[in-house]
Amino acid sequence: MNWASKIINDINSILLPLECFGCNVQLSRGEHLLCTVCRHDLPLTDFDFAHENAVDRIFYGRVRIEKAAAFLYFSKAGIVKNLLHFLKYKNQQEIGDFIGNWFGPQIAQHKALRIDAVIPVPLHPRKLRKRGYNQVERFGKRLAHHLNAAYIDNMLIKTHDTKTLTQKNRLNRWKSSQDLYVVQQGESMRGKRLLLVDDVITTGATIEACAHALHTIPDVTLCVATIAVVP
Ligand SMILES: [Zn+2]
Repeated sequence: MNWASKIINDINSILLPLECFGCNVQLSRGEHLLCTVCRHDLPLTDFDFAHENAVDRIFYGRVRIEKAAAFLYFSKAGIVKNLLHFLKYKNQQEIGDFIGNWFGPQIAQHKALRIDAVIPVPLHPRKLRKRGYNQVERFGKRLAHHLNAAYIDNMLIKTHDTKTLTQKNRLNRWKSSQDLYVVQQGESMRGKRLLLVDDVITTGATIEACAHALHTIPDVTLCVATIAVVP
């Protein structure tokens, strides 16, 4: 953010009462993004990169993922849904920093989990232009910072601008989505350990399609970290 937009932001935050992104109450002094109640009520998964969890099990038999975890449980109503809505559609990218700065140090505790590069699930370029940002960018960049890893967002490419393929069954979805993502110039990632990041895991189809593309790079190891998972 440049200094001019930072000043405008500061002025806005003085003039406009800030509301909690979880429950819309007016934030008190010292509260940031979430009120104290919502922050306390965040449904943390407590998944880590040492023990098997429900996100790992999503990918068994589908694609090789060494380790996966999500930070929060997603539900159809509530704090996490609201947070992700503001992050994805309302340009509240600070939410990505906030979660990344919380989850990143937790992941970094696992010294055995060495990560060379963080790779975001990409948007199609047309959608990226329309939205103006990838909603997982700031989350991914904070994770990369805490893991001493590179952040690489120009290697995994989305080839088609599709609506979600949720109407189809899993097999058909995989068949129709396996070419949805491609790797460009992945040679430098040969043998590397990559952390694929996304906002929410529902069926795992998006991560699966991205992982199949990334496995075209010889000898890569894939891990996955997301902001939330649908339980
Ligand atoms: Zn709240």
